[in-house]
Amino acid sequence: MSLLIADNCINCGACLPECPNEAIFENRSGAEATGIRVTEGIGDGDGIYVISYDRCTECVGHFDEPQCTAVCPVDECCIIDPAWPESKEVLLEKAQKLNPDKQIDPAKAWSGVRTGPMAGAA
Ligand code: SF4
Ligand code: SF4
Repeated sequence: MSLLIADNCINCGACLPECPNEAIFENRSGAEATGIRVTEGIGDGDGIYVISYDRCTECVGHFDEPQCTAVCPVDECCIIDPAWPESKEVLLEKAQKLNPDKQIDPAKAWSGVRTGPMAGAA
């Protein structure tokens, strides 16, 4: 799954530079202007930061936990987007494709990948 940013985002910007996949944007229209997609209904009106499901790997391949969640000062703000179930293997492949010159580590994956709804279905 990708993560999403909920309406309680306070636009602090802390998450954006931490994302290893450049999946975070200041607002929905900014993401869409570059052809990158955001889950329907998320960030409408451009009032909050958004995560693109095209680029989010839940930090799999890079870190042991989602970095946006780790740095976000707001509880329950960077959360799982149930619209995009992806297995660890799919997320690793996605991470490598997005970062062809980077070493992707299969050992880097948080437990949420395997316990989330439909994990392993892809
Ligand atoms: Fe980026 Fe990781 Fe957050 Fe996904 S979980 S948006 S890859 S920092
Ligand atoms: Fe919003 Fe959290 Fe990112 Fe700050 S760190 S911009 S509150 S999602």
